Amino acid sequence: MPNVLVIAELFEGKVRKGSLSAITFAREAAAIVGGGFDLLVLGPGAKAAAPSLAKYGAGKVLAGEAGEYVAEAYAPLVAKNAAGYAVVCATATAMGKDLMPRVAEHLKAGMASDVVKVANQGGLVLVRPMYAGNVLAHVKVKTPVAVVTVRQAEFEAAAETGGASPVADAAASPAEAAAARVAVAGFEKVVSARPELTDARVIVSGGRGLKSGDNFKIIEQLADLLHGAVGATRAAVDAGFVPNDLQVGQTGKIVAPQLYIAVGLSGALQHLAGMKGSKVIVAINKDPEAPIFTVADYGLVADLFQAVPALVTELKKVVA
Ligand SMILES: Cc1cc2nc3c(=O)[nH]c(=O)nc-3n(C[C@H](O)[C@H](O)[C@H](O)COP(=O)(O)OP(=O)(O)OC[C@H]3O[C@@H](n4cnc5c(N)ncnc54)[C@H](O)[C@@H]3O)c2cc1C
Repeated sequence: MPNVLVIAELFEGKVRKGSLSAITFAREAAAIVGGGFDLLVLGPGAKAAAPSLAKYGAGKVLAGEAGEYVAEAYAPLVAKNAAGYAVVCATATAMGKDLMPRVAEHLKAGMASDVVKVANQGGLVLVRPMYAGNVLAHVKVKTPVAVVTVRQAEFEAAAETGGASPVADAAASPAEAAAARVAVAGFEKVVSARPELTDARVIVSGGRGLKSGDNFKIIEQLADLLHGAVGATRAAVDAGFVPNDLQVGQTGKIVAPQLYIAVGLSGALQHLAGMKGSKVIVAINKDPEAPIFTVADYGLVADLFQAVPALVTELKKVVA
């Protein structure tokens, strides 16, 4: 009997890579609460996308055609399909963070958000950071169903296990007054040739030390040579250097790439909370006392306006 339900997320008809982290969490949670896991995918093109989810060892894949995501419509739909499960989870993407607290409310369930680890301590224990990552809380949810969001950076993307889970129709939505009050008018897409911050293997982030939006071109050159994404601190975003979808940190995106290059940023606690899980951290800062050096694997005390262009020149010699 599957005990865990994973909400998979669609983007332009395809399952987001981030949802594979929720599947890894589901496998680990199911090993503790017993049974297996099922998948639920909702949205335009859900039925066409369902077979791509059938390769991960789920008991079944529930697919429901629905309009574009709005929390008011999706929350009751997820809650309806969640009946009988012990754990309902999603990755803590913008959608997951928006949707799952409402699902918890519909189910009158306790919730743990931003979970980074699971443990078996006489039942399922969910480990989640508090105080900008300085404390790890061990949470037991006491309601019959637990609603969970998990950090993509902390759970490896699930690998396919082979086989093909059966695909079934998701239960249809109950009529909800709230859902009728909102609709998606359209999307303004940010077109970028660079990878998504949360999926990137390399991130080059800039801070207030860059001094202007124009100067971010230096960072972009380095990121492009490394096929990476560009990130930023909140100070850089607040100063209008770059848009806020590039913000890394406690109130931005949580990332854990293979390589994180921090340029002209001090390494404030709230920034570190979003990137200190990166595999290799390189810091370039002119202040040898900058806190970023306490988490950096490699540190360069230098003026970024000299160091980064020099790095770009050298890299161009080896990266065609
Ligand atoms: C509730 C809350 C949530 C927050 N959430 C976030 C968050 O999600 N993400 C985030 O980033 N911040 C967040 N902050 C803000 C955070 O506290 C810091 O203010 C911010 O991260 C600082 O950004 P910075 O490092 O770019 O700027 P600064 O701290 O001003 O650092 C600039 C650095 O650039 C260096 N520098 C300057 N010129 C050069 C040069 N020419 N060459 C080399 N180095 C140079 C300086 O030595 C300095 O270390 C949050 C704050 C609060 C209160």
